[in-house]
Amino acid sequence: MLFRVTRNCPWNKCLFCHIYKGRRFERRSLEELLSDIDAIYAISEELKALSWRIGEGGEITREVLAYVFNRPFDECVRMVALWLHFGGKTVFLQDANSLVLKAETLAKVLFYLRQKFPQIERITSYARSRTIAKTKSVEDLRLLKEAGLTRLHLGLESGSDLVLQYMRKGVTASQHIEAGRKVMEAGIELSEYVMPGLGGKKWWREHAVRTAEVLNQINPHFIRLRTLMVLPEMPLWKKVEDGDFELQSEEEVVREIRLFIEHLEANSYLISDHILNLLGELEGKLPEEKEKLLKIIDGFLSLPKDEKMNFCLGRRLGLYERLDDMKDPVKWKQVEELRLQLEREYPGGVEGAVFKLKERFL
Ligand code: SF4
Repeated sequence: MLFRVTRNCPWNKCLFCHIYKGRRFERRSLEELLSDIDAIYAISEELKALSWRIGEGGEITREVLAYVFNRPFDECVRMVALWLHFGGKTVFLQDANSLVLKAETLAKVLFYLRQKFPQIERITSYARSRTIAKTKSVEDLRLLKEAGLTRLHLGLESGSDLVLQYMRKGVTASQHIEAGRKVMEAGIELSEYVMPGLGGKKWWREHAVRTAEVLNQINPHFIRLRTLMVLPEMPLWKKVEDGDFELQSEEEVVREIRLFIEHLEANSYLISDHILNLLGELEGKLPEEKEKLLKIIDGFLSLPKDEKMNFCLGRRLGLYERLDDMKDPVKWKQVEELRLQLEREYPGGVEGAVFKLKERFL
């Protein structure tokens, strides 16, 4: 269940982000949040009563879902029905930085939520490192953990102060470290998001090495990759157009990720689960599986140029998931024919077409 404790992003200045641009940030009051929980609870009781009425014994079965979705129930009822059908065990707090709320306020909300829905096992939220570094103590975070907060996703993006400053991330590398360590000390699961490509052609080495160094000092449970993609709605687009920021090619980003992993010494689980990442199979426990990860990368880098382009295109078309998928002769031929045609006819060539295809993923 998605549960909005604030609206939009209190920072909203990062050059590479378009999600909340033009939207005003708002904190939701404690009263409003508690009454939302009451409303969800009332809906869940109505759904159980409905289930009894149609002979489903109070469970939110497929039949109850079909009943709700085939009649003009509103979106909230449908969302709660789906949530309960799948066990009602996980909640995601929205929007960009729930920890901007006072720890006591948020804890009251989480305690109440779990009192009403004791089956909840996991509550996750996005948060900003700067907010945690500057406004939350380890005790605050422990209180939130006790209230039910199980995992935080932090947008680290980069460990390079140069890159962070240029991208107007509003946080320094040392604040990232401070925040990450506090979260770990409080016993909350920590997932740090890294953005390959964010250093551009100019700072890619600095970006890769410093980011690894920062993560080595945090030792988060998870490191998640989410490669940079620039859209016209993002302030970074203008910088790209002006030539102030030069985007890397797909291959250059893969080389950067190799350098990043080489320098990683954290005891973390690395995940490449975003569709914008070229190599989705880069997943493993560090440091044990570092060699395995580097081997996957080298597998791509050692391909002849045309084969690399074949993979990039096939991956962006959704035909390949892993490098080995290129061994399927039917898929390979399908992609190769298109690659040759694009090379002849598409104005930006295959790279231009791949960039266009990636726009669909955001
Ligand atoms: S803090 Fe997060 S949501 Fe806010 S502008 Fe930056 S990237 Fe976007």
